[in-house]
Amino acid sequence: MADAALKEEIRTCETCQKQFLIIPQEQEFYKKKDLPWPANCPECRQKRRLALRNERKLYKRKCDKCQKDIISTYAPDSKYIVYCQECFWQNIG
Ligand SMILES: [Zn+2]
Ligand SMILES: [Zn+2]
Repeated sequence: MADAALKEEIRTCETCQKQFLIIPQEQEFYKKKDLPWPANCPECRQKRRLALRNERKLYKRKCDKCQKDIISTYAPDSKYIVYCQECFWQNIG
């Protein structure tokens, strides 16, 4: 039997201002883990998680101009031309 004291809670997402529900089972989960209730809707939480994952996807590759080792978001086998910061600014000027 479900605990009658626990009810679905309606919260407003801090990011998209959309309303979302926190169901009793979820409330129990946060209580047990001693976690605060989420401030963002499940959609925004998922987006944030994906964004974090993308940020970590960095590759070690060489600058296409001076061959210096750099960190890039483009894989070494991608067709993009990637310059190190110095070459990038040289190229602009
Ligand atoms: Zn949201
Ligand atoms: Zn360079």
